[in-house]
Amino acid sequence: STVTPAGSSTIATNLPARLVAELQAVLGPRGWSMEQDVLAKHNREARNKFTGMAELVLYPANTGEVAQCARLCHEAGIALVPQGGNTGRCGGAVADPGQILINLARMDKILETDARDFTMTVQAGAILHHIQQAAEDHDLLFPLSLGAQGSCQIGGNIATNAGGLNVIRYGNTRDLVLGLEVVLADGTVWNGLSKLRKDNTGYDLRDMFIGAEGTLGIITACTLKLFPRPRHLATAWVALPGIEAALDLLALARRETGDAIAAFELMSQFAQDLCISHIQNCITPLETRAPWYAMIEITSSRPRDDLASVLEGVLERALEGGFILDGTIAQSEKQRANLWAIREGIPEAQTLEGGSIKHDVSVPVSAVPALIEQGIKQAQKRIPGIRPCPFGHVGDGNIHFNFSQPENMPKAEFLAHWEDLNRDIHDIVAGLGGSISAEHGIGRLKVDELVHYADPAKIKLLAAIKQALDPQNTLNPGKVINHK
Ligand code: FAD
Repeated sequence: STVTPAGSSTIATNLPARLVAELQAVLGPRGWSMEQDVLAKHNREARNKFTGMAELVLYPANTGEVAQCARLCHEAGIALVPQGGNTGRCGGAVADPGQILINLARMDKILETDARDFTMTVQAGAILHHIQQAAEDHDLLFPLSLGAQGSCQIGGNIATNAGGLNVIRYGNTRDLVLGLEVVLADGTVWNGLSKLRKDNTGYDLRDMFIGAEGTLGIITACTLKLFPRPRHLATAWVALPGIEAALDLLALARRETGDAIAAFELMSQFAQDLCISHIQNCITPLETRAPWYAMIEITSSRPRDDLASVLEGVLERALEGGFILDGTIAQSEKQRANLWAIREGIPEAQTLEGGSIKHDVSVPVSAVPALIEQGIKQAQKRIPGIRPCPFGHVGDGNIHFNFSQPENMPKAEFLAHWEDLNRDIHDIVAGLGGSISAEHGIGRLKVDELVHYADPAKIKLLAAIKQALDPQNTLNPGKVINHK
């Protein structure tokens, strides 16, 4: 059918004309787009593994509009795909032909900050960085922190149960959410915007929507936990003789700092060097060459604290114990920024280096060395010359187990191994009692992997929940679980 949007030329679309007209009437002229340039941005997928095919994107301004859109699409049997900042790593926000995107960018208001309850209530389209800043304005902290924070939305963070850099101290997004408001597939609104820290009244509906990747409902608002803002921090970069030493250092640092660790990140020498050669202004923090490096950041919100000397003490004891070969503590914000730039620059540096095959996996912290050793051995057996580039949030057992292409292998030939290598690494992860998705979710990317590795009873329960909440399968079909 054809639809004529106000002020633009006629656009051909396979969507039912009546539904499109009804949605346009609900949302008004600012509330939707069918323009190719605009759609191209929403249909692009961060890793270029999938191509979105949406012909219509909706921009509701409030919960009532989201509910009306859901109801109309449900009645027409047309699927809605929720989208936030479109920074997800698993193709969860990609729409197939005939599906409609619903992007919450206009619902970006901070609704309330409560400095006594230590809570903030926001609309789901609020950008993570704006939430962090709003908390800071009240001398408080919202601790979720990740590389995409300038563009990801809190609704997307909740839908993916994002992890990030501070999980070791504050937990995943799940641990930071007190209440949710959600629009269900048929347009029903569930108001669960609670500030309660204790509420044992039946099944936990909130937890069901967290990490559901838009397959059970559209999150429209949330109440978040805030914390006292750290007043002091100290950041160190250390050279490690091996991965086991990283775990000894972590255990030592947890004890010696009174669990003040906000981040504990590990990277191989290859990962560090890649950043220094590819990312502008990254400077080698330590002259000492070592197979592994770690970054530790400790924070305190006490008015007076000398964290630099606390961290110095940790490094001294680690040197004595043989856990580290060398270490340095950032003496200025500039030096600290350099350390973070190295850590956060690894994915970009890998892209600049060529093809990479990636895994976002977790194992018990104690099994990280086994994972890395077995994984590297298996990868080298499958693809001689492959360059392992593992890094990540080792403090919570989450390794981004990435590999760069061999120097002399064409990119396409290397990437053809993607699925085989995934299976190799995921088999090792499963053998160590780990997870094939630590923090990025399942999306479209890992639907088959989930079925392969999960307990069949879990798949049965996931299907039963999907059937109960979205029997017509009009909410983000084909993501997380294949539902007929
Ligand atoms: P989108 O990508 O738009 O959507 C992701 C999923 O959530 C989709 O399934 C979508 O349908 C669903 N969704 C979005 N909004 C809603 C809503 N309102 N209601 C219901 N469902 C919704 N992730 C980490 O966990 N840790 C990291 O350290 C990390 N670092 C990153 C660094 C970079 C540079 C980049 C690009 C990404 C990183 N990510 C990381 C991945 C990504 O940023 C997170 O998954 C983020 O939480 C996604 O938010 P988004 O708003 O972009 O969601």
